[in-house]
Amino acid sequence: MKRLIGSVLCAGMLLAFAMTQVLPEVPVIAKGGTLTVEAASSKKAKTSKTSKKKKQKPTIGIDPGHQGRGDSAKEPNGPGSSVMKAKVAGGTSGVSTKKPEYQLTLEIALALKTELEGRGYKVVLTRDTNDVSISNKERAEKLNESCDIAIRLHADGAGSSATGASMQCHTAKNPYIANLYEKSNKLSSCIINAYCSATGMKNRGIAYRDDLTGTNWSTIPVTLLEMGFMTNTSDDNYMSSATGQAAMVKGIADGIDAYYK
Ligand SMILES: [Zn+2]
Repeated sequence: MKRLIGSVLCAGMLLAFAMTQVLPEVPVIAKGGTLTVEAASSKKAKTSKTSKKKKQKPTIGIDPGHQGRGDSAKEPNGPGSSVMKAKVAGGTSGVSTKKPEYQLTLEIALALKTELEGRGYKVVLTRDTNDVSISNKERAEKLNESCDIAIRLHADGAGSSATGASMQCHTAKNPYIANLYEKSNKLSSCIINAYCSATGMKNRGIAYRDDLTGTNWSTIPVTLLEMGFMTNTSDDNYMSSATGQAAMVKGIADGIDAYYK
């Protein structure tokens, strides 16, 4: 019995020995060779992609929310949706500065364009004047054409004590752009963190909603920044001050840098 076990063990060891001798020689080397080729070619592809990226940074789409006159005519709030919403709502205004939201979002968008171009990005704005009539759906479509990401700029309105900044991002169950959720969510968190760190504003976090027309029509990662409360005296004055605007613009640009890092 002992002998038998011994010879079985021996046979097993021999087989194992034979396998270690044979296996490494033929298939592994062939496999190794293939791997080496693959690694070299993917490395090459990566290098050319990286150098291409260095030459051409992404194109950032910015939508300064609202416009000189709102448009209450309706449009579907998503592709194929039966829910109709106003093409462009009126927006809020500054309790202290009396500045309309559409003017504030335009000021920040124009300064942000300059800042981002200085950092090597290309920038597309949905509007560079207040005297336009562009619906939220049309704004999304314009940015879809040539941009890599879309950032929608707004300011909040509520009771006088509400203060701070927040993002509005679509959910992972959005019927139109669920596939963009991870990227949109990353973009949202990069921007709100950098924005609040640059401005010292209260970070109200990310609100998730799927009823925003300008977001639902997007085909690129998209987020909406509520830059602060125009109905709060302190936020309102800060957002119209030179120091405040410089910090706001730096914060948003830093957030975009962080997203692409
Ligand atoms: Zn707004």
